[in-house]
Amino acid sequence: MAVYEFACADCGEEFTVELAMSERTGAKIVCPQCAGNRVQQVYRAVQISTGKTPCGQESKPGCCCGDCCCGH
Ligand SMILES: [Zn+2]
Repeated sequence: MAVYEFACADCGEEFTVELAMSERTGAKIVCPQCAGNRVQQVYRAVQISTGKTPCGQESKPGCCCGDCCCGH
């Protein structure tokens, strides 16, 4: 399980969602405040602690959400 942070584009609510890696792709995230589905994942700087991932590639904003080859 990993905790993902999201922000709602409609009402500005920020919230966290716990998802398994396997649930991350295609997961339907809705805002707990307004039930809108226009939510965007928030990438915190703290999640990117190094400039490199274990696999040696440049760290990208998507690295910590499970889309990267390092699986983080
Ligand atoms: Zn909302």
